[in-house]
Amino acid sequence: MPDKIKCTVSNCNFWDNQLCKASAIEVSVDGGGAMAKSDMQTQCHTFEGK
Ligand code: SF4
Repeated sequence: MPDKIKCTVSNCNFWDNQLCKASAIEVSVDGGGAMAKSDMQTQCHTFEGK
């Protein structure tokens, strides 16, 4: 796990001043599968809306 995860999703409960404060995050490929063709195909499933 990285020391710092930068994030711009300011309406997430884990967001704090441009950083993610969750103890772990889950990221998967948009549409399923295990191979993303670009960063746009990755999704944070740990997101929790405020
Ligand atoms: S859980 Fe995901 S969306 Fe929420 S702050 Fe962390 S990286 Fe960003």
